[in-house]
Amino acid sequence: MRRLFSTGRAAGILGREQWSRQRAFFSSSLLFDDTQKQFKESVSQFAQENIAPHAAKIDATNHFPKDVNLWKLMGGFNLHGVTVPEEYGGLGLGYLYHCIAIEEISRASGSVGLSYGAHSNPCINQLVRHGTAKQKYLPKVVYAKTDTSAGSKGITAFIIEKGMPGFHTAPKLDKLGMRGSDTCELVFDKCFVPEENVLGQEGKGVYVMMPGFDFERLVLAAGPLGLQACLDAVIPYVQHREQFGRAIREFQWMLERIVIIFVGHLCILLLEIVTTETLTERTVLELYFWLPKKLHKLPFIFCATTQAIQCLGGNGYVDEYPTGRRLRYAKFFEISAGTSEIRRMIIGRELFKQE
Ligand SMILES: Cc1cc2nc3c(=O)[nH]c(=O)nc-3n(C[C@H](O)[C@H](O)[C@H](O)COP(=O)(O)OP(=O)(O)OC[C@H]3O[C@@H](n4cnc5c(N)ncnc54)[C@H](O)[C@@H]3O)c2cc1C
Repeated sequence: MRRLFSTGRAAGILGREQWSRQRAFFSSSLLFDDTQKQFKESVSQFAQENIAPHAAKIDATNHFPKDVNLWKLMGGFNLHGVTVPEEYGGLGLGYLYHCIAIEEISRASGSVGLSYGAHSNPCINQLVRHGTAKQKYLPKVVYAKTDTSAGSKGITAFIIEKGMPGFHTAPKLDKLGMRGSDTCELVFDKCFVPEENVLGQEGKGVYVMMPGFDFERLVLAAGPLGLQACLDAVIPYVQHREQFGRAIREFQWMLERIVIIFVGHLCILLLEIVTTETLTERTVLELYFWLPKKLHKLPFIFCATTQAIQCLGGNGYVDEYPTGRRLRYAKFFEISAGTSEIRRMIIGRELFKQE
């Protein structure tokens, strides 16, 4: 099996102009207005230059690289506060822009996209929605049962800071995918949380948490759009790889696979734009928006990632190429923020509630 080239070198092989024309076309930019397009292009350039070169190492080592502070770089580019009002140092843009940022970061690295989305939405966006003026500058939001006998009324949302006595994190878990986006248990042992760190009201955390989950699921559902990276890998590869005396892109079956990936990406992108653009405080709470959106994306993501592996033949199965990593990222979306079964259960229950 012959190693051809890494996707990082694709620009050089195809010629910079041709490559960027193809990237623009496959990034479906026609669906956006000029400002959105400009935003998408600049996040894309940032992510390809600063994040993509580290994606394979982040996955292999399960660590963010020590020699580069991606978090600070993203902050410098104003990516952490896309939905934050300008008075608090954010960009003051809406959820669609936030989704565009997640798409382009996830296209560079699904792991970094997940960490970025988890920080900028459930944490920062929740502070903006519920925090007092002082709280809006603090770091992490936690939901916990502060009264175990009171059911959902016993949940309180609060802000926790690293180094608080009685709070520590358990060792991080070794995961199948999304490696380098650290997951661990938060451990509270006689941790004193001052009253000013309570988000919303004590015992009323469910009113902070549930709508917060709706926004989180809506925005994190843009992560699968990063599967566009499959096209980034496949397009140059099939033009360069030759079998039976011609480029493999000329075989009809190959074209079919590429179209399947492209259409899969386009479908989830359209779903993302329609649902996010119609988003208001009221509609996001409607199950018809975010739940089906997450469910419908899953078959497209699995199909597109396995097709991309197939297009690269044996190389698709080798870790030097990003396609295998994309398949491992894809499985995450079937489990996180509520498994597919639970999402179906909620939709089914709601259908009967309406009778
Ligand atoms: C990488 C990663 C990051 C995560 N990050 C966070 C985070 O930041 N914050 C957080 O709170 N959580 C986080 N989670 C946890 C995640 O939300 C849960 O793992 C997920 O909701 C599933 O819950 P569970 O693992 O307890 O599975 P279980 O509930 O034990 O489910 C096991 C299986 O049983 C099925 N099942 C359960 N109940 C039913 C039912 N009634 N009917 C039919 N089937 C059912 C499930 O669908 C699943 O297939 C993360 C998980 C992962 C993998």
